[in-house]
Amino acid sequence: MNQPHDSKQQDFRDSIATAEKSGKRIWVFPAKPKGKHYNARTIVSIFLLAFLFGAPFIKINGEPLLLLNVLERKFIIFGLAFWPQDFHLFVLGLITFIVFVVLFTAVFGRLFCGWICPQTVFLEMVFRRLEYWIEGGPARQRKLAAQAWNGEKILKKSLKTVIFFGIAFLIGNTFMAYLIGIDQVIPIVTAPPTEHMAGFVAVVAFSLIFYFVFAWFREQACTLVCPYGRLQGVLIDSNSIIVAYDHKRGEPRAPMDRGERDAGLGDCVECGACVTVCPTGIDIRNGTQLECVNCTACIDACNRTMRKVGLPEGLIRYSSEDAIAKGQTFRLTGRIAIYTIVFVLLTSLVTYLMVTRSDVETTVLRTPGSLYTEADNGDIRNLYTIKVVNKTFEETPIELRAVSPKTAAIQMIGAGITVAPDSIAESAFFVDLPRDAIFSQSTLLTIEVVSDGEVLETIRTSFMGPGKRSEP
Ligand code: SF4
Ligand code: SF4
Repeated sequence: MNQPHDSKQQDFRDSIATAEKSGKRIWVFPAKPKGKHYNARTIVSIFLLAFLFGAPFIKINGEPLLLLNVLERKFIIFGLAFWPQDFHLFVLGLITFIVFVVLFTAVFGRLFCGWICPQTVFLEMVFRRLEYWIEGGPARQRKLAAQAWNGEKILKKSLKTVIFFGIAFLIGNTFMAYLIGIDQVIPIVTAPPTEHMAGFVAVVAFSLIFYFVFAWFREQACTLVCPYGRLQGVLIDSNSIIVAYDHKRGEPRAPMDRGERDAGLGDCVECGACVTVCPTGIDIRNGTQLECVNCTACIDACNRTMRKVGLPEGLIRYSSEDAIAKGQTFRLTGRIAIYTIVFVLLTSLVTYLMVTRSDVETTVLRTPGSLYTEADNGDIRNLYTIKVVNKTFEETPIELRAVSPKTAAIQMIGAGITVAPDSIAESAFFVDLPRDAIFSQSTLLTIEVVSDGEVLETIRTSFMGPGKRSEP
């Protein structure tokens, strides 16, 4: 990995930048980023936030666009409903996603953390911006934190708490909407708490957690808790594209001397802008570090300095350690090739399973414990139970048709089956078979599941009979 200019200077690796040796938190007061990367991230964040808050209101055939109802084990992803019966698809999809993340990280490092992760988007684009607006820049924030509680401090801190909690409450409600659907969340929020006590407690609990994370825990979530962040050490290598300081070009670093640059000096003018702007409190010039979320703030800060001192931009940039140290361009390494092959195979499998997945899934079982009986006309009769899972959002009438033996007669017990949208129906039916169609104790029975004239599934099951005694 990228090394600091003085290889003996490795103290920073013994501790994290936001904790003293005693373990006490060092609060970070980063400067507000400015520059084209920050502007681009702002635009991306606006789209992401609009989608995050808008998606629960989007419905397809009356059902949410996205629903991750863990409690009822019901998942809807872009209008496609997944039931416990689709668990294999869900697991395969998850494995494919993990392989994608590993592959993506091996190539692009923590691009996701800097641009898409909700933690970074909310913290840097929402909460931090509000903090600058209420408390001012880093110097004023530091002063406010240090000063005694006076009218100004009480006013600013109270305003910040109310606004932060309001946004955390909004996030908590949105989070709930993804879990149980917006139609369930609205009554929880609008009706008196006593009418939806469990839902109310959940909304408040989520809101408090989000408030805690964004108002206080902040970068510690990325450094200490996030498993993706903790795995960076094994996911990225010297070929991965990361936010990197070009130590070959920057060192030896030294301040600008009256606008002049002595020969032999590197391009880093020791302005410190890359450090003061870093929301995780690190110095990127020390090399790749666990805390770096690739937010690009230091790229913008350094480019601004480079422009001021008349040096080329890009002293800190998206690059790889190999590109900086050896001038190598991106290579397709064996590791990336293997990840790619596994990813393509898994994606193909998941796509195949998705395309061939039936919208209506039927399970037919001979009723456990029952043998055959004799009908009034002398035919042999078996009793079956049927369970139909309707994964569509339309009411589906179900009809059963005996295919083989052709002489089998199906008789539903009770009314026919009509499965409500997005639900399960169970019923039972008799199958009668003339004795002369039975040649063994177990006869293969083939039934078609039909809806509105369309064959949805063909079921094969066994029909129990008296066996050879019936042979003509
Ligand atoms: S080092 Fe740069 S990219 Fe990494 S977190 Fe700090 S400012 Fe962001
Ligand atoms: S912003 Fe650039 S020039 Fe300034 S200290 Fe950081 S690397 Fe050096």
